[in-house]
Amino acid sequence: MLKIAIQKSGRLYDQSVQLLKECGIELNNGNRQLKVQAFNFPAEAYFLRDDDIPQYVCDGVADIGIVGENVFFEKNKDIQIVRKLGFGRCRLSIAVPKSLKYSGLKDLNGLKIATSYTVLLKKFLEKNNLKAEIHEISGSVEIAPGIGLADAICDLVSSGSTLFTNNLKEVEVVLNSEAALVANKNLDEENTKILDNLLLRIDAVKAAKNYKYIMMNAPDHQLKNICALLP
Ligand code: ATP
Ligand code: ZN
Repeated sequence: MLKIAIQKSGRLYDQSVQLLKECGIELNNGNRQLKVQAFNFPAEAYFLRDDDIPQYVCDGVADIGIVGENVFFEKNKDIQIVRKLGFGRCRLSIAVPKSLKYSGLKDLNGLKIATSYTVLLKKFLEKNNLKAEIHEISGSVEIAPGIGLADAICDLVSSGSTLFTNNLKEVEVVLNSEAALVANKNLDEENTKILDNLLLRIDAVKAAKNYKYIMMNAPDHQLKNICALLP
């Protein structure tokens, strides 16, 4: 039985459940239980906070899980990414007040940067030889400069609208991220087989989506040529 950890609610929930469904794995989670057995596949899903998933997968409480790469790299546990999943795309970025003149990395020197991603920010600063103060906060990072708590922030961005409404501008990308399937490094033989089967299904779903995308976007006169190239 393969134990799969999924975010219990939030930005990754819908697409994680949807992906499993497209793989033929139905979870009846109507009443949002912590643990749900799949109907037609030897798996059970655990619904957890995304931040806890790397630890649980590392400890073997779950065998695999779906988390953002941002969480995977920040938690830095001894687990592995087995597939990138193509949804939950975002960037971990540094943003400063719109009014601040910013001409390059060196302008970050001496600033106090608020973030929940202290590990990734510290690595970024070290890699670029920058000396900035990291101020750890757990939520509502984007309001920190406005209330005088910090000079800048390092947080997840997708459209940029949250930054905009808080009078901030994105100046550096620390990490590009998407959802990923992560796995324990020491799965037993049975679970390795089940995971391999799941990966085959995920790849088939991805291939079918790419195929559909190509077919929908190709000009009519090129369709014949494209079809000839497809496996
Ligand atoms: P939890 O209660 O599980 O801890 P959370 O509030 O930490 O939830 P969400 O905001 O639901 O998490 O985000 C989950 C993941 O979705 C992020 O870690 C990231 O990988 C991805 N994501 C995609 N776009 C964004 C975005 N604009 N802001 C935040 N996360 C995003
Ligand atoms: Zn979280």
